[in-house]
Amino acid sequence: MMFKDVIGHDNLKNRLTENVRQRRIGHAQLFLGADDTGALPLALAFARYIQCRDRGPEDACGKCPTCIKFDKLAHPDLHFFFPSAPNQEHKKDVSSKLFTNLWRELLLESPYFTWFQWLKKLGVENKQAIINAEDCNDIIRTLGMKSYESPYRIVVIYMVEKLYHAAAPKILKVLEEPPENTLFLMVSENKDRILNTILSRAQIVKLPLPEEQKVAEALTDRFGVEPKKASQIAFLTGGRLTEALRLCHQDEEQLADFESFREWMRCCYANDVAHILKWVEKISQAGREKQKSFFQYGLKIFRMCVLYNYDAGHLIRLDGEEKTFLEKFSPFVNHRNTLQIVDAFNQAIYHLERNANPKILFTDLSFQLNKLMHVRAQ
Ligand SMILES: [Zn+2]
Repeated sequence: MMFKDVIGHDNLKNRLTENVRQRRIGHAQLFLGADDTGALPLALAFARYIQCRDRGPEDACGKCPTCIKFDKLAHPDLHFFFPSAPNQEHKKDVSSKLFTNLWRELLLESPYFTWFQWLKKLGVENKQAIINAEDCNDIIRTLGMKSYESPYRIVVIYMVEKLYHAAAPKILKVLEEPPENTLFLMVSENKDRILNTILSRAQIVKLPLPEEQKVAEALTDRFGVEPKKASQIAFLTGGRLTEALRLCHQDEEQLADFESFREWMRCCYANDVAHILKWVEKISQAGREKQKSFFQYGLKIFRMCVLYNYDAGHLIRLDGEEKTFLEKFSPFVNHRNTLQIVDAFNQAIYHLERNANPKILFTDLSFQLNKLMHVRAQ
């Protein structure tokens, strides 16, 4: 990953390269942005830029021995830590180092991946992955080693908000005063979930979504999407790259979410108990993360209903069957019930994260939705 491979964010690239030129490199930096913003790719490009032996004013050289090792993510002074959980192969005592191969594989495929894709890669979609105490011990062990061949030793921590709270104190000291020539590049999707003690020690690089135009260009240049379709998809997704890629690949998962959501709303509205129970049975068998991402999909639809009801239909980024559904569905989501519906979904996500029984949770929510959807606007 070089800066030229990072989609958009020209201002941030300038700022980062300028910092390196002026030797003002913060020892703990937090790249903060949703998975679609490219926070991880930007952090990786920055790491390479710092380590490159022949960097130019704007980017690494791409050719020196350091760059070649970065191409394979096999540079001895680049260390990765990320959330993990026991899977089929490693049933206990897991930590990042057991999954380095999977991590490299996914990153080399494309550094633009979502949290859910990482869980899938680990084979733990229905588990909570964390950065655990053993990872913290490993971070400290890593810092005990000398850097091999570069001016800096770089520790990349992906999804630092998943750091197990009880383990965090182990690394606070090194984050505050790392050994010489050590850089922490942390990546996070959600600032609110990061421990304050970590946050206060980091310099923040905040990423907005890349511009739609840049995303459209990337879809065409890198993924061979025909320019007109690329612009359309970039618009539909508001510049959300992973979502755009999903649409390009006609992602079946997204379609499945839509079909499942439509089925659920219809049987909830009709209070068709037999159908509701059948639907609940089906969704209960999906993994927990899948269920959470399904709720996120639902929240997206509710947001769009609100836009639709307030005559802001032009802001809606949907087409085809989803759009037709939204037009018919939006009258049932109105100013008298929206907040309660959204709240019910957020509560459900909260309880799922705390291992609530999905059958009870979805059944209960179905009956709540039935009541709420019958609250008319007038
Ligand atoms: Zn280089």
